[in-house]
Amino acid sequence: MEGEYTEEEFQIAKKEMDQLVQDSLKGREIKPNVMFAKMSDISRAISVSKGLVKWARVNSLWPMQFGLACCAIELMGFGSARIDAERKGYLLFRGTPRQADVMLVAGWVTKSMVPEVKRLYEQMTEPRYVIAFGECATCGGPWFESYNIIRGIDQVLPVDVYVAGCPPKPENLFEAMIKLQEKISGKIED
Ligand code: SF4
Repeated sequence: MEGEYTEEEFQIAKKEMDQLVQDSLKGREIKPNVMFAKMSDISRAISVSKGLVKWARVNSLWPMQFGLACCAIELMGFGSARIDAERKGYLLFRGTPRQADVMLVAGWVTKSMVPEVKRLYEQMTEPRYVIAFGECATCGGPWFESYNIIRGIDQVLPVDVYVAGCPPKPENLFEAMIKLQEKISGKIED
């Protein structure tokens, strides 16, 4: 049939194709150390980017604008020019949990407020952190044995830093934020 390969032509074409494949593979031959160099470059880039993310996370904590009782007045002091919290990267209080990653629980938590506090926590961006600010948030404070106040926010949320005092000072909160930074950066353990 016209146009059909003879057996000899077929063998020649096959040989040429095999040769082409071999040549192309030789051209792309990778020396073993090149591959390892690439792998180490990638892992170095990954570790550098992880370090950058951690550095950014540590130095840009965004507290949520959220207060429950008299300790919240101290939060206002924390946001004042006298404390100047922004110099350490504790930025503006955010009005929505979706833009915040630190919950400052300032005040007593009634049992009826627990679902709302939990909902706000769950709406915050991850990773998220909790600071129990003051005696009430830490253990119930003066209402330790009250029928309607829980004995500390750690009954319902994981707390990263506790701040003692009734009320604690804004400076204590500043120190708590430093402790939180140290915890996030791995300088101190839980
Ligand atoms: S710890 Fe003291 S100041 Fe703070 S909310 Fe409780 S009673 Fe008020």
